[in-house]
Amino acid sequence: MINYKNTETTLIHGGISIDERTGAVNIPIYQTSTYKQDGLGKMRGYEYSRTGNPTREALEALINDLEGGVAGFAFGSGMAALTAVLSLLHSGDRVLISSNVYGGTFRLLSKVFDHFDITYTIADTTDLSVYESQINDDVKAVIIESPANPLMTVTDIRAVAEVSHRHGLLVIVDNTFMTPYLQKPLELGADIVVHSATKYLGGHSDVVSGLVVVSTQELAEKIAFIQNSTGGVLGPFDSFLLIRGIKTLAVRMDRHVENAEKVAKLLLEHKAVKKVYYPGLETAQGYEINRRQAKNGGAMISFELHENYDINTFFESLELVSLAESLGGVESLVCHPSTMTHASIPADIRKKVGITDGLIRLSVGIENIDDILADIENAIAKSERK
Ligand SMILES: *Cc1c(COP(=O)(O)O)cnc(C)c1O
Repeated sequence: MINYKNTETTLIHGGISIDERTGAVNIPIYQTSTYKQDGLGKMRGYEYSRTGNPTREALEALINDLEGGVAGFAFGSGMAALTAVLSLLHSGDRVLISSNVYGGTFRLLSKVFDHFDITYTIADTTDLSVYESQINDDVKAVIIESPANPLMTVTDIRAVAEVSHRHGLLVIVDNTFMTPYLQKPLELGADIVVHSATKYLGGHSDVVSGLVVVSTQELAEKIAFIQNSTGGVLGPFDSFLLIRGIKTLAVRMDRHVENAEKVAKLLLEHKAVKKVYYPGLETAQGYEINRRQAKNGGAMISFELHENYDINTFFESLELVSLAESLGGVESLVCHPSTMTHASIPADIRKKVGITDGLIRLSVGIENIDDILADIENAIAKSERK
């Protein structure tokens, strides 16, 4: 493997990018569950596809190169990836989670790991002294999203990692919103990076998948063991789709962000808009921190309309932008966090962390910017209560 200096090149040539046997410039889809052995104990590197598959392995090497870790792992979804990572913990352990983590992460901890006496505390990762005061002897890990879903709250990853390591915590960063093209959490001190690769990495809304990258050999051995034991692996065809998607991440992301910056500007200046949450705006919470740790503000925007606008009419009036769960695909998507992505968070907690019923989340796609802006402006105009 060659270590390329620039992420754009690693996206295309990282991992295992050439098929050794034939020279094919794409790794074949090894659609097989098992492998012939030449004799007892004489394997050719593979024995069973839950344990290892060449297509999945190429993807795992690729995401590892991109995040700059020790080993990568591919799972059947982002939630399967998070489940594997949380399986490092033991009963009695507590996890700190930043206040607007993905709803599914919250549900996994509050409704599944809870059965095994692995508990969680919602932590303020944006205020270091408050954060440090939330750490006690039971706390063994922290899960950070930056920017966090859906209020785009920025956390100083390097600072939180430093405080956490002083107390022996495992620092886990969900890098789904930024991708390694915009932000590399391991370089900022994280121990583990998790992705819902369903989003920007796949990029075409055609595959559900999750990825994990770890920073030490010890963690690599543990996650490999958990991956093989619990079995939530990604299939060969989906691994191929993900490698294919990742090749164009840089050009897609550049356009996503270019478009998002224009959409944020339109919203900021629009009389119907009460509030805009976008880390790329100079007025945003954590703008300076985000600029230090990431290339730019990404392409996810949340906003609220004033009370005299009806958000249901807004959603129904959109023609280009689709109302749908998920994000990070080439097409622009919009969602209503309080009833969709974050519905699994109880209403009182939603309210406390600022996820109002009027909040709208936008995943800005790579369509022509004028078409996106016109669609949003038209839907806002139609939603005004007369
Ligand atoms: C979608 C998402 C997940 C869950 O991933 P799936 O692939 O849907 O299982 C986790 N974290 C974040 C930030 C997400 O957006």
